[in-house]
Amino acid sequence: MIAKNLPHKTVERLSQYRRSLLLILSNEKTHVFSHEIAQMLHITPVQVRRDLMLIGYSGNLRKGYDIKELIEMIGNIIDTEKGQKVAVIGLGNLGKAFISYFKGKRTKLTMVAAFDINPDKIDRIYDGVPCYHIDRISEIMKKENINIGIITVPADQAPGIAERLVLAGAKGILNYSPKPLNVSPYVYLEEYDMITSLEKVAFFAKKNDERSK
Ligand code: ATP
Repeated sequence: MIAKNLPHKTVERLSQYRRSLLLILSNEKTHVFSHEIAQMLHITPVQVRRDLMLIGYSGNLRKGYDIKELIEMIGNIIDTEKGQKVAVIGLGNLGKAFISYFKGKRTKLTMVAAFDINPDKIDRIYDGVPCYHIDRISEIMKKENINIGIITVPADQAPGIAERLVLAGAKGILNYSPKPLNVSPYVYLEEYDMITSLEKVAFFAKKNDERSK
């Protein structure tokens, strides 16, 4: 019920909180204060407390938040019990990097298929993930129950691929191509443009360079 109305930014931060908490947990700590989480993520303790209140979690004033309990609570909000399956469309350098990087990182999200048009890549297994011809996208997504697609094809191909993903039943799309996409309002679309991010960093690096001269 609560999870339905969470702001997008809160969901993003919950994932970051969980990652930070998993790191602290390996240091044999059992409890953590909002200001400690905030410090790790360069945000304010108020922000942390507000987000956790939104998911109905309040810590112990004296001891802070119980780390294990909070990890579990965040999992209940952002994961599904059975887990979700993910496909990568475009097994080029970026698609391959994504599969390799993601492998084993999350138990509730599994990369189960890749799609491509290049015959050299089709019917091969890359890092445990089989690659199918793009024309089989609907068949395989339905058979495997895949509901998330990651687009790593060249920009001019991205709109067509998004359409095919939606038709195949995707409920969430992560677009790694630099082409902004339009999809049905029933599909959650997240866009990540690496070039824009790097150009932003380059702009501020240039300014800092000029300042230090
Ligand atoms: P490579 O040189 O191995 O193809 P790359 O990263 O340079 O890698 P890109 O041109 O960026 O390749 O394309 C990414 C991947 O998307 C490639 O594997 C390509 O075959 C695939 N691709 C291109 N168009 C489509 C499409 N319409 N459907 C599915 N896959 C596609």
